Amino acid sequence: MVADSLARFLEENLIALNDKGLFNTIDVIEGANGPEIMIEGRKLINFASNNYLGFATHPELIKAEIEAAETYGVGAGAVRTINGTLDIHRALEQKIAEFKGTEDAIAFQSGFNCNMGAISAVMKKGDAILSDELNHASIIDGCRLSGAKIIRVKHQDMADLEAKAKEVTESGEYNKVMYITDGVFSMDGDVAKIDEIVSIAKKYNLITYVDDAHGSGVMGAGAGTVKHFHMQEHIDFQMGTLSKAIGVVGGYVAGSKQLITWLKSQARPFLFSTSLTPGAAAAALKSIELMQNNPEYVEKLWENANYFKGKLQAIGYDIGVSETPITPVIIGDEALAQTFSKALIEAGVYAKPIVYPTVPLGTGRIRNMPNAAHTKEMMDHALAIYAKVGKELGII
Ligand SMILES: *Cc1c(COP(=O)(O)O)cnc(C)c1O
Repeated sequence: MVADSLARFLEENLIALNDKGLFNTIDVIEGANGPEIMIEGRKLINFASNNYLGFATHPELIKAEIEAAETYGVGAGAVRTINGTLDIHRALEQKIAEFKGTEDAIAFQSGFNCNMGAISAVMKKGDAILSDELNHASIIDGCRLSGAKIIRVKHQDMADLEAKAKEVTESGEYNKVMYITDGVFSMDGDVAKIDEIVSIAKKYNLITYVDDAHGSGVMGAGAGTVKHFHMQEHIDFQMGTLSKAIGVVGGYVAGSKQLITWLKSQARPFLFSTSLTPGAAAAALKSIELMQNNPEYVEKLWENANYFKGKLQAIGYDIGVSETPITPVIIGDEALAQTFSKALIEAGVYAKPIVYPTVPLGTGRIRNMPNAAHTKEMMDHALAIYAKVGKELGII
């Protein structure tokens, strides 16, 4: 039985969503999410995943996951604080801390719930959070949950950050002030100016929080955007996910021993949600080890990304301001971006449209995520399709 009020709500809102062109049909991948995928029996070159290093299907990670399941079972059994902390969880956290250059780290079940838990464990009513206007949804939700005053800062605008930091500090109205930013912005691929952020933060005594979901495994020889700027000593929260370049699932904060001790006693998803499966913890640990011992994975990612970006530009596409493997092909018109993506998929390239409200109106785009597992053949095939479809639609 569905209550009348719910039925009415769903009916009206689903129609409204569809009318606005915001209804998203979800494709089902038949088999693994690799550099090529099967959808409805068709093989497509996959440029839509965040599997930067190809680790989601790496044989050594699969082996680590299977062995952990055999040793520990498939579930951790409880929340971390009660009876769900296994030695493999601590081993993973110690590895993350070593990789990030911090005293300690805490692992969560996802990057999303890590942001929900970690921000609100520290920031409270009476505090203020300065937040880049293009920050990820999980940062926005985490900030809201905290009860702190949220002040939007213009995207990557250091003058605006400094002016607002000054105003907020001088007002004397707030107990503490945080600046929070993505390390790499997922829709444009631009990189946070960590060095400038640190100097502003020092001047105004700001707490610093960098969400490096798209920088980890990509920047700083894999160790992330903060490491890229050699600022490990100066950023309070190095947050990241185990689900993108790391290839598995989970989230973490790396930071000082005291901060991690506090988060382990206060972050609600840590206290009230069952811990990462032992298999995921073991696979993530193996992933970091692979990255540390084999720099060629990250090198291959950049080599592929630079090749693919250069060729797309040479064909005549506008690829925006990306400084990372994230490669938007900016189309502008939302409907055209949707049509373009459909035509690409029809021709064999799986790359998704990103449109308003995820990105500003009039900047509709196709986002490409070249990764270390793509072969030159796959990329060349995809580029030929890009050239053909783009000409047919009058985009290039
Ligand atoms: C993907 C992403 C997250 C969420 O990470 P999950 O592990 O997938 O929950 C958080 N922040 C940013 C910036 C992201 O891109």
